[in-house]
Amino acid sequence: MSVYGRARTFSILLWVVFLLSPAWLVWLLEAGPGFVFLGFAAWLSLGVVTLIRFRCTNCGNPAFRYRALKWIDKDGLLLWGPFPKKECGVCGSDLAAQ
Ligand SMILES: [Zn+2]
Repeated sequence: MSVYGRARTFSILLWVVFLLSPAWLVWLLEAGPGFVFLGFAAWLSLGVVTLIRFRCTNCGNPAFRYRALKWIDKDGLLLWGPFPKKECGVCGSDLAAQ
């Protein structure tokens, strides 16, 4: 599977976990403060996975980091997004083909 395909699957799973957060947050709060800390650490580690795991093989830019807000700057600002893009934000190579 391509970098884009893996990143897209991961972001869908991440959004499902996020949308179910009212349920598991209540469960963590009832379980105790240690479990809240563990849940927070697990959520942060999922964010770190997006930094490390889904990178352009050409330049190393993460698939979730791309150029946006082109009305501010003509090249766009290099920002983080909630979904990956098919085109690398730095070198422009096709992440769906990698
Ligand atoms: Zn690239």
